[in-house]
Amino acid sequence: MGHTTEISQQFPVELLIDQQLVRGEGPEEPILNPATGEVLCLVPEASHEQVNRAVSAANRAYATWSQTTPAERSGLLLKLADAIESHAEQFARLESLNCGKPYARALGDEIPAIADCFRYFAGATRCMTGSIAGEYLSGHTSMIRRDPIGVVASIAPWNYPLMMAAWKTAPALAAGNTVVLKPSEQTPLTALLFARLAAEILPKGVLNVVCGRGVSVGEPLVEHPHVRMVSVTGDVATGRKILQAASTTLKRTHLELGGKAPVIVFDDANLEEVVAGVRTFGYYNAGQDCTAACRIYAGPKIYERLVAELTSAVSTIKMGTQDEEGVELGPLISDRQRNRVASFVERAQMAGHMEVTTGGKLRQGPGFFFEPTVIAGARQDDEIVQREVFGPVVSVTRFTDAEQVVGWANDSEYGLASSVWTQDVGRAMRVAKQLQYGCTWVNTHFMLVNEMPHGGLKSSGYGKDMSMYALEDYTVARHVMIKL
Ligand code: NAD
Repeated sequence: MGHTTEISQQFPVELLIDQQLVRGEGPEEPILNPATGEVLCLVPEASHEQVNRAVSAANRAYATWSQTTPAERSGLLLKLADAIESHAEQFARLESLNCGKPYARALGDEIPAIADCFRYFAGATRCMTGSIAGEYLSGHTSMIRRDPIGVVASIAPWNYPLMMAAWKTAPALAAGNTVVLKPSEQTPLTALLFARLAAEILPKGVLNVVCGRGVSVGEPLVEHPHVRMVSVTGDVATGRKILQAASTTLKRTHLELGGKAPVIVFDDANLEEVVAGVRTFGYYNAGQDCTAACRIYAGPKIYERLVAELTSAVSTIKMGTQDEEGVELGPLISDRQRNRVASFVERAQMAGHMEVTTGGKLRQGPGFFFEPTVIAGARQDDEIVQREVFGPVVSVTRFTDAEQVVGWANDSEYGLASSVWTQDVGRAMRVAKQLQYGCTWVNTHFMLVNEMPHGGLKSSGYGKDMSMYALEDYTVARHVMIKL
């Protein structure tokens, strides 16, 4: 690990509490560049008292923010979108430095989708519809209201730090809630830049940003009695802990947890498209993606060709640092994460019946790089098929028929994303209907749009991000009855 560089002054490190940019009063967290292992800057955590101040500020602001019109909130969300867009390079630079992502991908793929998320919810909040008012009891008129919930604690992970912050804060704010956002302790920089911009746009206390670890800052936030809802994207174990903590005060929870996406490839699939698709969607963001196309099931006739062609395609993925020409794959977020990925691959190799057809090793030298890897010959009960690796590792398993593969695909603790590859539309629809996943793609994978929901089943959680369903999650249906 290197030393804090002089450029640390350039990094945003202040928290946002009650419209003030303030230094955290807790211990300092070193923020790393995963491509080199060097420290970029130190971000002091929020103290317990600062967490309380952030929640109090959000609680005070709720009284007025919750009474604004959708049009007023919409106008401010559009300004946030414009501000993100006009600072696109700065955001992309920070995100790519802090996560190791290729800069061009952060700028070209992530920032536009983030600005669009704010724009979508700016529009959506003005278009909420519901059941009609009427006399369901003679002499009484009933109507349904959709009202905000209160202070929302939004807890984000490290894989897409600003995008996850957008998915959480945009619908919550659009619906009239106020927010305390806690980014991951490993990747707070873009949320802190966002905080600076939001301080100029949003009214006092509507959005607060506090940094720090799960135990020291996340827990007091989740336990705070004035927080009415907790939204978290993270690990299943974290979701469980948060659910337990939230149960004391019966908070509403919105959980977006892990995934282990099955990719079902029938014999009649277009092999070229499958290979190109998995090469992209299995390794994007170094596989640190809850929807990554990581668990391939290949039909008996296509299996051998798929393994051969995928192996040669994956061996051409260019791994490198943020600004290297043509870089496609960056490092993993931390040495710890890399060791975790390496140990999954080692155990798969030790099992004896599986073959690493490309990759399989960590790259020597600086940074937390792990080679893009294909593991062939995996069986349904293998760890590599069952558990989330969260790295650039794809397994391939041979199946015999549709019934077997649907059973295997559903034989998982996770239920977030899945895909089916075939030229037979009827078969695609039959399989899609049977899959127990929040999303099923046909002849593609990974594609998300702000108009459609993203969220899971089973241990993947039950919150919906994006779409009208997110606005529903961040509001409560209320009945008002008038005696005539
Ligand atoms: P993580 O669970 O370690 O951390 C997520 C966030 O929770 C962090 O901000 C962390 O500080 C906080 N946290 C941890 N313990 C807490 C506690 N006890 N109380 C309150 N907050 C606490 O997850 P991660 O390692 O940052 O992210 C990777 C995980 O996220 C993977 O499992 C991945 O599948 C999942 N993920 C899911 C989705 C989705 O949409 N379903 C999207 C991205 C990532």
